[in-house]
Amino acid sequence: MDQIYDVIIIGGGPAGYTAALYSARAGLVTLVLEKTAPGGQMTASNRIDNFPGFEDGIDGAALGTKMKRNAERFGAKTEFCRVLSVSLTGRIKTVRTDRDTLKGRSVIIATGAEPKKLEIDGEEELTGRGVSYCAACDGALYKGKDIVIAGGGNSAAVDAIQLSRICKSVTVVNLAHTAAWEAAYTDILSGIGNVRVQNHTAVAKLLYDDYLTGVITRDVYTGNHMVLPCGGLFVSIGRAPATEIFRGQVALDGEGYIVADETTGTNLPRVFAAGDVRSKPLRQIVTAVSDGAVAAHFAHKYLSRSAVLTSQ
Ligand SMILES: Cc1cc2nc3c(=O)[nH]c(=O)nc-3n(C[C@H](O)[C@H](O)[C@H](O)COP(=O)(O)OP(=O)(O)OC[C@H]3O[C@@H](n4cnc5c(N)ncnc54)[C@H](O)[C@@H]3O)c2cc1C
Repeated sequence: MDQIYDVIIIGGGPAGYTAALYSARAGLVTLVLEKTAPGGQMTASNRIDNFPGFEDGIDGAALGTKMKRNAERFGAKTEFCRVLSVSLTGRIKTVRTDRDTLKGRSVIIATGAEPKKLEIDGEEELTGRGVSYCAACDGALYKGKDIVIAGGGNSAAVDAIQLSRICKSVTVVNLAHTAAWEAAYTDILSGIGNVRVQNHTAVAKLLYDDYLTGVITRDVYTGNHMVLPCGGLFVSIGRAPATEIFRGQVALDGEGYIVADETTGTNLPRVFAAGDVRSKPLRQIVTAVSDGAVAAHFAHKYLSRSAVLTSQ
């Protein structure tokens, strides 16, 4: 007979592995499905300074590995695979991956968020060849180069400050009339000699052969185009929830985040949403791990009440 897991957790970031830790410690047969590597978004940062307990900070990928090992110590298992589709409405939930079809009595969705794309020609092929979505991870590769940042929010400002220290010049191309970052960033950026900001301007086209060589910008008021030669483009226009595969079954808010209450429960019985993927005011590692613990707690509570557990 096919194995039926008590809890299938989709996503091996901090929310997923904390859910796995709590679920496995509660004696539930627990499986984590992760498409890349443990740790999720925090693997893009080599220094996490605001996760309590690490007084000197910690590398994000190392923290992810520690979280995975911590859950494994209590019996949680991981399968590295991509979840392609789900069927979550019935009593037994089905999760189809690129390797297998799995069954579970409950599902915790912890798929987090991914960077938004500009959606222009060449963007996908050039990712890793001049186009990046993470200044903290890839900045060093652009040392001494002229680079462009697309974006106008706080993360674009932080990226500009960071990249100004290693790159020759930084041009921030912002679609809106004025930048949306906090006023403090305006003061800091105006004091940095190699950073300039171009408002009401879109990145309209990428110039490249094998590698990015420049961008063509368009002034959204005048329609004027300009060529900006550059060796790198950092896209910093926010993040979008990884919820496409749940659409039509799990209730989403207007921005595509999963609607879940304080128990992390969704509109479907024994389906929970934890971490950045759910509608919430603060998306951080500490709030993701908190959600993971809450989700596993309620999964255990409902399973104990309503179903025979695998372990019994
Ligand atoms: C560069 C950067 C630096 C950051 N620095 C900090 C910081 O210093 N402090 C802080 O508190 N927060 C920081 N954050 C934010 C923090 O990383 C997130 O809030 C946190 O990782 C959210 O955790 P999560 O588990 O909800 O989701 P995620 O970390 O997004 O993890 C989701 C996981 O699900 C997997 N997944 C998605 N879809 C599927 C699928 N279909 N099948 C299988 N697996 C799937 C993904 O591969 C990923 O591993 C940073 C984020 C970034 C990008």
